[in-house]
Amino acid sequence: MTSRNFDLIVVGAGPAGGTAALTAAAQGISVLLLEEHPTVGVPVSCAEGLSRSTIKDYLDIKQDWVSQELSGALVRGPTGDAFNIKYPGVGWVMNRMVFDPAITKLARAHGAVLKTSTKAIGVDNNEIIVSESGIQKRYTFKFLIGADGVASHVGRWFGIDTRLSLQEIEVCAQCVLEDITIDPHCTVLIFGEEYAPGGYAWIFPKSRNSANIGLGISPVRTKKPAKYFLDRWVRKEFPHGTIKAQMYGGVPAKILKHFSGNNFFLIGDAARFTDPLSGAGIANGIKSGVIAARNAVLRLKGKKCHFESEIKHEILNEIKFHYRVRRVYLKLTDREFNDIFQVGRKIYEGKTIHDINTRHLVKEILLSSPRLLKVGFNLLF
Ligand SMILES: Cc1cc2nc3c(=O)[nH]c(=O)nc-3n(C[C@H](O)[C@H](O)[C@H](O)COP(=O)(O)OP(=O)(O)OC[C@H]3O[C@@H](n4cnc5c(N)ncnc54)[C@H](O)[C@@H]3O)c2cc1C
Repeated sequence: MTSRNFDLIVVGAGPAGGTAALTAAAQGISVLLLEEHPTVGVPVSCAEGLSRSTIKDYLDIKQDWVSQELSGALVRGPTGDAFNIKYPGVGWVMNRMVFDPAITKLARAHGAVLKTSTKAIGVDNNEIIVSESGIQKRYTFKFLIGADGVASHVGRWFGIDTRLSLQEIEVCAQCVLEDITIDPHCTVLIFGEEYAPGGYAWIFPKSRNSANIGLGISPVRTKKPAKYFLDRWVRKEFPHGTIKAQMYGGVPAKILKHFSGNNFFLIGDAARFTDPLSGAGIANGIKSGVIAARNAVLRLKGKKCHFESEIKHEILNEIKFHYRVRRVYLKLTDREFNDIFQVGRKIYEGKTIHDINTRHLVKEILLSSPRLLKVGFNLLF
């Protein structure tokens, strides 16, 4: 019979929660990992893109967790122009149906207890209340990590306002499309009002003949639903493709004032650690999972903990900068974005690169056009 008392309870078995459970269990403390769905990694609500540079030092990616290796991107601008970025080894299109369960399996191998079909429904002092296959139960924790994704409740239970305004969310629609022909190593990113107002559209190849095809839009830029743009795009560019699965979801773009307390940390999407520009959250989920687990163990051992400062250094500084860039991006017209696109083309076309530094890129873009400098400077600095 499972014990009812744990050093650490982690709510949510996505990349953030799974990595936190793995890191903490590997240090010998008792860990309970709760997942509301019957199977970890299902359903997939993600395009599964992961860049190598963002997780180096945090997790070794195994070949069987990956659907495709990526070596570059095709960037399409508002006028239909396009350029290629060659970036060997840039990253992967993961297979999250394999990756997410693989992480929890490793956590279990280190002694963590995983409970699926178990939804956390509240906290009462140092107890978490769950609905376990429909039966209400309680488990005791010394420390709690909330990794319950974009629709997180854990933060609110501890008095943190995690609500998202229309400004602070990207609304996404995506499908898995088969029977198409694509370059399996090249991501496609498409910008412009026609495809994705206030966001971008993507093709993340799963194979030569299948891909995650989707887009994110900002509800402050259009009243139309994301599905409208996706359906129109698929009809126009992939009329013979077979839609295997469709999903809709939100990506947060918010900076919380607090994401920890005496006996809890929030991580991953629950802490709004998603990149506000790209919408990518797997890497920051993994990073925050590792950082949270290490610091929770320190707290449990009565030692000084550095969670907030490590998160600031490793994650938040970049998020804050990208948040400001996003505010500019949300105000750009197609014409202005096309100017940026042309600068990007000048910098990247025909070159093989090994790194993209956003601060450097933004500086180049602003300096390239007096008009952009005016728009950008006021909002960024
Ligand atoms: C359409 C779309 C495309 C995306 N594409 C990318 C991409 O290409 N690359 C990228 O890096 N990011 C992408 N993201 C973002 C990425 O999916 C998330 O940032 C990432 O999954 C966050 O990981 P997480 O562990 O914090 O949360 P999640 O992966 O959401 O995991 C949270 C887990 O908690 C569980 N849970 C929730 N509530 C409870 C509860 N009360 N009790 C128990 N369990 C609970 C959920 O079932 C889930 O398993 C995309 C998002 C969307 C919507």
